[in-house]
Amino acid sequence: MAPGFIDLHSHSDLCFTLPLRDQARLLEGRVRQGITTELLGNCGIGCAPLSPTTRSDVERVCGFITPDGVDWSWGSFASYLARLEAQGVLVNVASLVAHGPLRLMAMGARAGRPGADEQRALDRMTRQAVEEGAHGVSFGLIYPPGQFADTDELVSVAKAAAAGSGFVAFHQRGSSRDTLLQAVGELIEVGRLARTSVHHSHVETVGRRAWPGTPEVLASEEAAARDGIEITADVIPYTAVCTTMLALYPPWSLDGGVASFLERLRDPAIRARMKREMAESSPVWPPWEGEGRWTMNIARECGWDHIRLAHVDGARNKDCEQLTVAAIGRRRGQDPFEALSDLLLEESGVATQLIFGISGDETTDEPLLPLLRSPRLAIVSDAWEIGKGFPHPGACGAFPRVLGHYVRERRILGLEEAVRRMTSLPADRLGLSDRGRVRAGCRADLVLFDPRTVADRSTFADPRRFAAGIDEVLVNGRRVVAGREFRPQAAGRVLRRGA
Ligand SMILES: [Zn+2]
Repeated sequence: MAPGFIDLHSHSDLCFTLPLRDQARLLEGRVRQGITTELLGNCGIGCAPLSPTTRSDVERVCGFITPDGVDWSWGSFASYLARLEAQGVLVNVASLVAHGPLRLMAMGARAGRPGADEQRALDRMTRQAVEEGAHGVSFGLIYPPGQFADTDELVSVAKAAAAGSGFVAFHQRGSSRDTLLQAVGELIEVGRLARTSVHHSHVETVGRRAWPGTPEVLASEEAAARDGIEITADVIPYTAVCTTMLALYPPWSLDGGVASFLERLRDPAIRARMKREMAESSPVWPPWEGEGRWTMNIARECGWDHIRLAHVDGARNKDCEQLTVAAIGRRRGQDPFEALSDLLLEESGVATQLIFGISGDETTDEPLLPLLRSPRLAIVSDAWEIGKGFPHPGACGAFPRVLGHYVRERRILGLEEAVRRMTSLPADRLGLSDRGRVRAGCRADLVLFDPRTVADRSTFADPRRFAAGIDEVLVNGRRVVAGREFRPQAAGRVLRRGA
């Protein structure tokens, strides 16, 4: 019997707004792997706060984590949490407030620095969301609009979050060889300047050239910790990740939001520039000085044969799900960039990708192992199920994969250590003093698993197979998994910061 697993990197933000029967349908695989608490609002991508003017941009940026049936009827961050509470939640949920929707409210979807008034509005809204129960703020520095923020903006927002005792989570600005260490340096610098506690989400190295950098990243964070920066981090136990296709394109092409991006894709001259840059451009630091620069060129680092289409909404491109962009190009008789760009136009910019080549690839996971061994890193899934396309297999298997594959089969880390990094370590990050441990006075979030048989069964080809060896899951003392039986009910609580 272990404490229930606490997933610091969930993107189930919109799933929990649906009625319980839909949550049950979408989240069964997550509950069945032993997850009893999820942290939402990661990577600067979130669905609250929301206003009539920002809603369409937020909807498009969130398209890749949005199941059918979402009504987008909340406004403030407080009203989003109230919505989850009124709806009832299958497991416990805590949330960060994402920088993306806050920035859209303060200054729209444009690139560039906020004016003084805009920065003040951004800071005020950040602090308000933390006071309403957010555990901190998250930055997504490779996604629109977070990628347009410079370090000064981040420091200002981080100070506002810290004023409400929240922490700051980073999807770092670049994790390919060119900017890996500068981007890690930036998040440490924000911690130093804002005097706030920072969290490095899904530590990773993107593309083969970056893989040898993993130990350097860990070393620089350990040095920062010795200097007194409060810094925590987490890792996804796979060498592929799932995200929006928009992350492939140059940041300038997303200036103004997804609608502007689609307009640029329709302009042959601008489109040619995007194509040229994605083929050739080398990232630079800092990215906000000069024209047309960005911090990570994923397509160039990983290659079109390592990027797969995971999900599209429209019927027209359904048969391209599971294909690499290179293969979609062959099918459409186009080069990969043209094929993907046409597909994005057809899908209004909403498409999900799986990228292989993250701290390893299909042939090796060696670069991932130092991350799995590091005692500082929590284990997370960063995988979601919206009932469409092909989810990342971590949505059913992330935690059992560590316990079965990396603990039992390969002995990369010990069993107790793995459990600690799924339970008490993330509980401490969230300041949850009554969860993440089995002891008197703690909430009965529990998972009963068999260390001899626990295993992930989900694969990239067949991602919806439930994990094996997880026999019981209890959320706040209520049994939601009992052997084969799944008993969905409103067993979870909304966990507000400091409540
Ligand atoms: Zn992320």
